Amino acid sequence: MDALVLLRRAQEVGLRVEPAGDKLIVRGPKDAEPVVRLLAEHKAEVLAALTNAARVAEVSPPSPWFERVIPRAEGEPGLEMPCASRRGRVEDRPDGLLLHFCVECGAWGAFGYGVHLRAGLLGRWYCAEHRPRGHG
Ligand SMILES: [Zn+2]
Repeated sequence: MDALVLLRRAQEVGLRVEPAGDKLIVRGPKDAEPVVRLLAEHKAEVLAALTNAARVAEVSPPSPWFERVIPRAEGEPGLEMPCASRRGRVEDRPDGLLLHFCVECGAWGAFGYGVHLRAGLLGRWYCAEHRPRGHG
């Protein structure tokens, strides 16, 4: 299974997945256990995907992998670049990708707040620079 698909599913069932060295920290509801088991089975791929995403979000330029996976509208700058017309945009794409851009600047938003996909809450997203401090 594709690690990104798996991460997406984990997010959908309310799991929080964080890399910690060569370990995976998973928090979330008990009924999500089947997904937790899948995450454990594919730990290496999931870790790689998370590490890639983190690197992309916090250090530019993004990897070719990221650019390929996340499409962008014509005329828009790279995902890691601020873009006024993209500010606060959250897009739940039919192909299973959730795109989210910083509320402040329109760059790729790696940090989501108030996100609860199951409840249809897409939340507010921030880049590393504009991420609210002190909580979360
Ligand atoms: Zn920003």
